[in-house]
Amino acid sequence: MPEPISESLQKNISARLGFYKDIGISLFYRDRSAVAAPTSEHPLEPSVTAHFPTRELQKEEPLPKPAARLVFPKAAPPATPAIPKSASLPVIAGPSLFESMEKVAGDSLLKTREDLGECTRCKLHKTRHKIVFGDGNPKAELVFVGEGPGADEDAQGLPFVGRAGKLLTQMIEAMGLQRKDVYICNVVKCRPPENRQPEEDEVKACSPFLMRQIDTIAPKVIVCLGATAAKTLLQTNRGISQFRGEWLEFRGRKLLATYHPAYLLRNPPAKSEVWKDLQKVMAVLGLEVKKGKSSA
Ligand code: URA
Repeated sequence: MPEPISESLQKNISARLGFYKDIGISLFYRDRSAVAAPTSEHPLEPSVTAHFPTRELQKEEPLPKPAARLVFPKAAPPATPAIPKSASLPVIAGPSLFESMEKVAGDSLLKTREDLGECTRCKLHKTRHKIVFGDGNPKAELVFVGEGPGADEDAQGLPFVGRAGKLLTQMIEAMGLQRKDVYICNVVKCRPPENRQPEEDEVKACSPFLMRQIDTIAPKVIVCLGATAAKTLLQTNRGISQFRGEWLEFRGRKLLATYHPAYLLRNPPAKSEVWKDLQKVMAVLGLEVKKGKSSA
């Protein structure tokens, strides 16, 4: 009989699995050809090739102060670094979720919201309190896409208003912007029970509305917060750690994926990586990147 696992070990394992989920690793398997049978000395470890931070949880690292001066003109100033070329990722075989989705003529956020209605297209409607459509500037140059509403968002009908939302707000302000300058939405508009990841049928039912939101807003840059948003828009099954911080393309628009703020709450050291990603976004948007301690 294997020995029962202690409560503290169970907690550690859950925390570690949450960490893997945040960086886009949800399936584990063992390479049986390479690894000997587990023993009490060498317990089963996940066979993953992705790089991820291994530092222990530390005290929260603050985000840098907001950029001193907001420069948000349409044309980037001459000093702005050259916009890097976008790469492309190998995609999941089969038709894209959005392949057949042509733009809706004369579309608007209002029309999209009306078409969504009191949605019952997937099972999430049964447990939701409020639909969380999206919030912010309908002409934003920058759109953030998260995974799906949590409890606070479900109660208020607004995206990213809980703890992770507060951190996202700080991140936006560190860029020299305010929430009203950007647009924030999610892959699914209704809260998944227990904050589980949205399931494939739920993403499939809901993402055409996300698509219409992005097409209507026509942002210069889309930032995917976490693996679910990145995997949905990029139609890839690669872990986010493999392409985080790289410029990619989504239907002719620049897209960059970074870690989800909820992940940063659990792993504050990763904030510096996210800040580097956001600085890349700032450069493309012509926002002043403050030279300083965290820009390295
Ligand atoms: N997490 C998300 O992905 N979206 C929200 O709106 C809130 C938390």
